[in-house]
Amino acid sequence: MNVISDQMAPTNVLIVGVGGQGVIMVSKVLARLCQVKGFQVKQSEVHGMAKRGGGVFSHVRFGQQVWSPTIPKGEVDILVALEWAEGLRWLNHLKRHQGTFLSDTQQIVPPFSCRDRKRGARLAYPEETARDVIEMVGKGFALDATEMASELGNAKAANTILLGALSTALDFALDDWLEVLDEFVPPKTKALNREAFLKGREWVENPPELPPEDDKPAPAVHRVTHPEIQETIALEITESWCKGCDICVKMCPQRCLALNGAQVATLTDPDACTACRLCEWLCPDFAIRVTAEIEEAAATLEKPQ
Ligand code: SF4
Ligand code: SF4
Repeated sequence: MNVISDQMAPTNVLIVGVGGQGVIMVSKVLARLCQVKGFQVKQSEVHGMAKRGGGVFSHVRFGQQVWSPTIPKGEVDILVALEWAEGLRWLNHLKRHQGTFLSDTQQIVPPFSCRDRKRGARLAYPEETARDVIEMVGKGFALDATEMASELGNAKAANTILLGALSTALDFALDDWLEVLDEFVPPKTKALNREAFLKGREWVENPPELPPEDDKPAPAVHRVTHPEIQETIALEITESWCKGCDICVKMCPQRCLALNGAQVATLTDPDACTACRLCEWLCPDFAIRVTAEIEEAAATLEKPQ
């Protein structure tokens, strides 16, 4: 099993989705199980707009000692998304290069995403594929949980399929999961939910091959080496995803981004970029990706013998 559950640092699980998908049920099952196993648990949730199809999220933190009920940005060990765009929205809360991402590929397009009011209006929905996301995270799984649940006879059990998937990433025995699951589902649906749970678990243990990659737009990559800090910073801008909203340009503390003549963000002063990642976090279209690599060779040279 993967995620630490017995060290001093708490394990952080973030569950996200939209109203009516059962985010809170997943969160409650996990919190209860952690409690039963003797951990200190803190759970918090936001679900105010749930009835209008709005976003719902819940933080679950458990460990020997947990002080705060909310997970700091960038500290999520496991992100469970019941809806694809919600998963993408919260992606930057995952631990960089280490976190586990589990998401339903189900897309729920909110009414306000229409860009105009005409018949056949274009919808604004993220274009990132499962492959795009899996390449960004420590471990990534994108499954069509809603379709899998429909095959079992109830699409609403998609949340239990995701719960089963989550169970593969935590060190609790299968029987304990199933026992707690039974407490939180209507008695008549216990058998179906158990089946859904096992299906999600099995999917993650034997994930199918990802579909072949479509021709993806290649990002423009700017690489800058900073010998003084032995780091190479790479800033990638996928130009076809940039809608020229100007957010990154306005928010860059180093003022090193600008919109070019085609109203696409471009790095105008690479030497000034500190790889703070603010532009990556704020870009609503995931058009920017920033990575900083330590120069291994240089670092080795500096090591005392
Ligand atoms: S990483 Fe930070 S400094 Fe570099 S371009 Fe983005 S916002 Fe500016
Ligand atoms: S924030 Fe994203 S979409 Fe907006 S200008 Fe910058 S790169 Fe383009």
